[in-house]
Amino acid sequence: MNLNSLTIDAARSAVQDRKVTATTLAEEFYTEIQKDDPRIGAYLILSKDRALEQAGRMDQLVSRGEKLPPLGGVPIGIKDVLTTRGVRTTAGSKILGNYIPPCDCTAVSRLEAAGAVFLGKTNCDEFAMGSSNENSAWHPVRNPRDPSRVPGGSSGGSAAAVAADMAVVALGSDTGGSIRQPASFCGVVGLMPTYGRVSRYGLVAFASSLDHIGPITKTVKDAAIVLRTIAGHDSMDSTSADLPVPDYVAELEKPVQGLKIGVAKEYLGEGLDREVRYAVEAAIQKLESLGCKIVEISLPHTKYAIPTYYIVATAEASSNLARFDGVRYGYRARDARTLSEMYRRTRDEGFGAEVKRRIMLGTYALSAGYYDAYYLKAQKVRTLIARDFEEAFSKVDAIVTPTCPTAAFKLGEKAENPLAMYLADIYTVTADLAGIPGISIPCGQTRENLPIGLQILGRHFDEATVLRVAHAYEQAVAPSA
Ligand code: GLN
Repeated sequence: MNLNSLTIDAARSAVQDRKVTATTLAEEFYTEIQKDDPRIGAYLILSKDRALEQAGRMDQLVSRGEKLPPLGGVPIGIKDVLTTRGVRTTAGSKILGNYIPPCDCTAVSRLEAAGAVFLGKTNCDEFAMGSSNENSAWHPVRNPRDPSRVPGGSSGGSAAAVAADMAVVALGSDTGGSIRQPASFCGVVGLMPTYGRVSRYGLVAFASSLDHIGPITKTVKDAAIVLRTIAGHDSMDSTSADLPVPDYVAELEKPVQGLKIGVAKEYLGEGLDREVRYAVEAAIQKLESLGCKIVEISLPHTKYAIPTYYIVATAEASSNLARFDGVRYGYRARDARTLSEMYRRTRDEGFGAEVKRRIMLGTYALSAGYYDAYYLKAQKVRTLIARDFEEAFSKVDAIVTPTCPTAAFKLGEKAENPLAMYLADIYTVTADLAGIPGISIPCGQTRENLPIGLQILGRHFDEATVLRVAHAYEQAVAPSA
């Protein structure tokens, strides 16, 4: 079977129509992984036993003449920050190197119930902290489009796996851009749902008020199918919203004529690469030609987004990561003579440099005497950033921006300069801070053939409009259109 451009519906129908068994399809993906992944590094752990069990169940359904569920037989990748029952979950960290969770993350169990086949766990920056995947404790990931470049992060393995046909779709997580930015760098689609839309139960926490789970896919429709499957209330996550989940797939076909699309000058200014700007401006024109009304808006607090995000995220991380003490989970330092030496050495040996940097930054921002000046101030500015969006969404239905200021950079290019790495998150962190949904879709490429991403942001719980605009653009620029 040709795995290139294989979508959920195509894979599922092939299994349903007995063109291929789910088992053979999974085997074909493993062959592809064996061939390509030594070069790319997208996977950390393969879960072949579980995949073949899941595929076998789908094959039985077909042989009994039953209808497959929506993701029946579809091979997927799962970012290694999402717990998987019986399958090692390391969060890209040595400290969880041998951790085998007792249960599945809610998003993962919903995908299993919908018939998906779990190929394995995809590589990521340690505890999802990073923008290049170079912070994985295990190995970096290379961009399938140009192996000298990063795939983005922190869901770099998920984006690379989808881009290189080593999974039909993959799950990622986004705290400051980790679904959208790697999708943009690898030329695929990445959707961050509204905060609360998808349960975070079973997600290894980085910054709990900012963490989101969402899909990385080849098409907007596939993102809609996965979201429809994983969204919805879950009593295991008190922040998960008890709201009806629309049929995102049915909503895709609604016309976009007359929709008001905001363009913010703060996202098209200083620091934006020229080629990225041209591609995004061309995409805006394309949306206009589809009947959308383009409206200039302002998001004036954008300039404070990076310091705000890097204070809130590190503060929450310093608290969340306190649980890794060598007692309850994973790695424990050997031969410590006292309890405090065991704690200290476990954390020193188990965490990588970037994670330690974040814990120190966050602890500092939360400490007595600095709390008001940093953490409290950041929370106030976070509110101002959210209000910028509220104000904008009183005038427009969606906002279009570049996903990132540049296309994929070279491995090692920013590794020694954390500030340069942080600054490149400027267009993605704002949506996480405001809790609104956003998608990145491909919108052309640079002269060096590197993909460029277009970001579309929407109102709280209005993923349907975000997906609809993204789908209309995708269809309009499709080669056959
Ligand atoms: N690049 C951002 C960071 O390093 C975002 C990471 C994420 O979204 N998980 O924190």
